[in-house]
Amino acid sequence: MRLRTFESFWLLKNGLLNSYPSLEKNISTEIIVIGGGITGALISDALISKNYKVTLLDKRDIGQGSTSATTSMLQYEIDTPLHKLADIMGEESAAECYKAGIKAIQDLGKLVGLKKIDCGFQKKRSLYCAHNKKAAEDLYKEFEIRNKYKLGVKWLTPAIVKKQYDIVSEGAILSGTAASVDAYKLTHELIRLNVKKGMQVFDQTDISEFDCRDDGVTVITKNGSRVDGKKIIFCSGFESTSLLKEKIAKLFYTYACVSEQNIAINKNIKDTLIWDTQDPYLYLRTTDDGRLLIGGEDSSNNISLFQQQKKEKKSTTLITKLGKLIPGLHFVEDFSWAGTFGSTKDGLPYIGASPEFANALFVLGFGGNGITFSVQGRSIITDLLAGKKNKLAQYYRFKR
Ligand SMILES: Cc1cc2nc3c(=O)[nH]c(=O)nc-3n(C[C@H](O)[C@H](O)[C@H](O)COP(=O)(O)OP(=O)(O)OC[C@H]3O[C@@H](n4cnc5c(N)ncnc54)[C@H](O)[C@@H]3O)c2cc1C
Repeated sequence: MRLRTFESFWLLKNGLLNSYPSLEKNISTEIIVIGGGITGALISDALISKNYKVTLLDKRDIGQGSTSATTSMLQYEIDTPLHKLADIMGEESAAECYKAGIKAIQDLGKLVGLKKIDCGFQKKRSLYCAHNKKAAEDLYKEFEIRNKYKLGVKWLTPAIVKKQYDIVSEGAILSGTAASVDAYKLTHELIRLNVKKGMQVFDQTDISEFDCRDDGVTVITKNGSRVDGKKIIFCSGFESTSLLKEKIAKLFYTYACVSEQNIAINKNIKDTLIWDTQDPYLYLRTTDDGRLLIGGEDSSNNISLFQQQKKEKKSTTLITKLGKLIPGLHFVEDFSWAGTFGSTKDGLPYIGASPEFANALFVLGFGGNGITFSVQGRSIITDLLAGKKNKLAQYYRFKR
């Protein structure tokens, strides 16, 4: 599956940070983690911290899947608004999922601080702007329910949004918890630190067969090497959809571009993730090297992801929309890219066991909150492995 176009910003910015050998022999381990993106990096780190013996395998180089294409906005807001999620699963449970997002952002900040990882992690706020009057009515309803559950929100009138952010809107929810990060660098750093603690990593190691039995698991690579273990944790991103019979997500493409460095922008935008209520939506954030990153314009995946013309047209549309949101802003594009994206029926991830695979657990954080969901996967997976109950695992279960 094509996960992204070539010019993904983080890869260009950081280059190839670490390379690992491919697997050329048979080995055995305790836990096999499939996937060396941000999810595999976070989950294997949690497993190593609980003293499991872990082997991580990836068919690409580390971080070269969706992780190098992400715009890495860390938000607690799920793609499904809280008032709609409440209709699906009940208000209390929906609010719990939202609160878990806030905790995940705080937990990731602590992890990065504790391990002193230089990955551009910045605490931010998040501003969700209504693009017209009807959207503002719905958004105000959303504000009320978030406020009821004390999610740290304020309602900003159109005049205040304009005054504080230079943004044209019909009103907005300002949330106090959000962050941004360079997920590609974070992935590499976490994996590098855990290799020092004994984790085995093999890249360019494509797993073509999974034998998940009641007494253990075996994976076989395309070149015939095998790994025996007790459990598999699938952190294999959007490509996992082709492994499962259960239809867990719809896949499409999404687009992003970054400006040149040192863009002249309202100082409050530097500390705030912005997104709007349009469909397809527009979102923006600054980067730690002084650029503005904008994204959105999701479209179906029945076009070629590599159509240069399509990508260029999409970034022109994004820049035009940006001009309407922030009139007078001078945005000069440096790079643009596109990537595969997925959404689930309720905006929640799939984390836990699928009845289709014995002795395996999945961490599939699809949607706009992929990274915050992967952070939540850390305690879910370690709890499930330890035989403990986990409330979130109930909400994020397969066959729901
Ligand atoms: C343009 C864009 C913007 C985005 N913006 C955001 C955002 O703002 N916030 C957010 O939270 N999320 C965002 N996302 C989503 C986010 O990128 C993903 O949730 C996240 O990167 C998923 O990480 P992952 O590790 O699960 O998947 P990946 O990074 O794709 O890693 C999975 C790895 O598994 C490996 N693998 C798969 N199958 C096999 C196999 N059979 N054998 C061996 N290895 C295998 C792959 O090679 C891959 O490296 C965005 C995505 C895109 C494309």
